[in-house]
Amino acid sequence: MSDKEFTQPDESLYSPNKKGILGRAFAPVAGFGVTFSTLFRPAVTEQYLPHKPEQKTPTRPRYHGMHQLNRYADGLEKCIGCELCAWACPADAIFVEASSNHPGEQYSPGERYGRVYQINYLRCIFCSYCIQACPTRALTMTNKYEVADQSRESLIYEKQDLLVPLAEGMLSTPHPMAEGTTDADYYKGNITGPTQDQVEWVKQARPEDPTITSAQVTSAPQKEAQH
Ligand code: SF4
Ligand code: SF4
Repeated sequence: MSDKEFTQPDESLYSPNKKGILGRAFAPVAGFGVTFSTLFRPAVTEQYLPHKPEQKTPTRPRYHGMHQLNRYADGLEKCIGCELCAWACPADAIFVEASSNHPGEQYSPGERYGRVYQINYLRCIFCSYCIQACPTRALTMTNKYEVADQSRESLIYEKQDLLVPLAEGMLSTPHPMAEGTTDADYYKGNITGPTQDQVEWVKQARPEDPTITSAQVTSAPQKEAQH
């Protein structure tokens, strides 16, 4: 036993304050006090008018908005269809179905690409677990937050809704990886644009492809010396 003596706490500290005559008289309407005092203050309303974009409040730079599927500098897709994002999602909002790349039909570096990619924005809680799980930084989040729509179907975004458009100088897919490279070269950021061989391949496969003329050709990365 400890030598310390334990005493009961002072009950008056925990009981409600006793009201005076005025307190008791106004008690039935006291709950409206905040309402009445607010009636005479100026309203503070953030305008949100989609047809007046200049009135939208910009988000913080790292705000987690709607998703985006990214590409490498030569146009290949970063998504390899591994489904880690779908497994990480606590709301079961992502569906991925992978398919194999073939020599004549290559969409991403390596063996597989995301053939079907869906995000259900009726389920998404914008927690960002999916983008943290993605091993290739294929999936990131933008600052866009205007998700509301008028039908359930329109809130299931498909791959074509999520895949970022080709940037200037990229070559449209499918096309082979840059000659002499492996998927590791892509993951390390060594690809800086389409190569002449890739452009020639697309010329053969799709002579009418408009990105053939706009592609900004770079040279394939040099192989590191083996030690
Ligand atoms: S942000 Fe969260 S809830 Fe939304 S798709 Fe990603 S993991 Fe799922
Ligand atoms: S977005 Fe990333 S995590 Fe999801 S399937 Fe594609 S590569 Fe895998």
